[in-house]
Amino acid sequence: MAYDDENIFAKILRGEIPCDKVFEDDYVLAFNDISPQRPVHVLVIPKGRYIDVDDFAANASDAEIAGLFRAVGQVAQMTGVSDDGYRILSNIGARGHQEVPHLHIHLFGGADT
Ligand code: AMP
Repeated sequence: MAYDDENIFAKILRGEIPCDKVFEDDYVLAFNDISPQRPVHVLVIPKGRYIDVDDFAANASDAEIAGLFRAVGQVAQMTGVSDDGYRILSNIGARGHQEVPHLHIHLFGGADT
C-alpha cells in the first residue's frame, strides 16, 4: 500500500489543518487526540511519510526511530504521566483498527488504562 498524502495527519503536518500541539522537534509532532479516551491522550507521529509500524521499522532511519521513541518519553514526562504509569498503543492495518494511515503512537494516561 502506498502512503496517502491526503490523510488527515499529513494535512496536520503540512499545517493545512490545525492541531492542539503538545510537542514538536525535527522528527516528530505530538498533539492531543481530538476524541480523548483518557484524561491524557496524545498522539505522537513521525514527520516522515510512514503508514504504520511495519513501514517505519522497515524503512525509517535509525535517527527517525530513536527520535520517535525519545519523543514518546518526553511527552510522558511533559504531561506528568510518568510517575503513575501510562500506556502506549499503535494500531496497524484493518484488523488492528487503524483509522488514519500515518503512523501514530497513542499515549494514554491520567487514569487507569
Ligand atoms: P487509529 O484508530 O489508531 O488510527 O486512531 C486515530 C486517532 O486519531 C483517533 O483516536 C482519533 O480520535 C484521532 N484523530 C482523528 N482526527 C484527528 C484530528 N484532526 N486531530 C487529532 N486527533 C485526531
